Amino acid sequence: MSRKNIVAGNWKMNLNYEEGVSLFSEIVNMVNDEVVGNQEVVVCSPFIHLNSITKLSTGNKVSVGAQNIHQAASGAYTGEISAAQVKSVGATYVILGHSERRAYFGETDELLAQKVDAALEHQLKPIFCIGETKEERESGSFFAVLQAQLEKGLFHLDAAEFAQVVLAYEPVWAIGTGLTASPEQAQEVHAFIRATLAKHYGEDVAESTTILYGGSCNPSNASTLFAQKDIDGGLIGGASLKSRDFVDIVKAFNQA
Ligand code: PEP
Repeated sequence: MSRKNIVAGNWKMNLNYEEGVSLFSEIVNMVNDEVVGNQEVVVCSPFIHLNSITKLSTGNKVSVGAQNIHQAASGAYTGEISAAQVKSVGATYVILGHSERRAYFGETDELLAQKVDAALEHQLKPIFCIGETKEERESGSFFAVLQAQLEKGLFHLDAAEFAQVVLAYEPVWAIGTGLTASPEQAQEVHAFIRATLAKHYGEDVAESTTILYGGSCNPSNASTLFAQKDIDGGLIGGASLKSRDFVDIVKAFNQA
């Protein structure tokens, strides 16, 4: 069964308003001029850019997402942003469960399950991140860690709801460190994730779920990673801040 290939950029807390709009315009132009495949391109920006860049994305191949939402629909949550607000400016994705949110903002699996529900209620597709720390990799507990993150964050969804979710395997030890998982290490985990999905949701759902790799992905290593059987694209941090690098990663499908 075919599934969608996606390359998603995560700008994190970078770029002022002008810089973000200008980077997004460059990406849209380069994608329109250079990308021939049907891979989807997503840019997840800070909230301040969303309204403007969704307008620039109209009619183009590039979709827009946020990097977080609050779990409540609305109300007295000073400084927070709801799924409905993000949706109202035309964004279609939201990153949830990123290891930086888990580690620095105390986001638990239980909270993330609520955020996933809030996203789906407002037709935002979660890009749901899971990943193990260096210690968990070295101790060999990482398969159990990843399975628990999937079960607690997502497995309350029924199959139709789960079909809206994009997964991202992001080993914490590879994020922003320049240490990329080898294609074999990443493929091993992606195959494990797909097998775990098959046990819970059945083969069809497992085979149609897009699973991205994230962690120091760059134009030099993307094609070998994307050539792995169970790797359907990437979630890109640092390299998504440079239009040339990001678009070269988008073009890395079928180049290994
Ligand atoms: C990320 O934070 O999602 C990420 C993959 O970062 P980087 O590409 O910089 O490792």
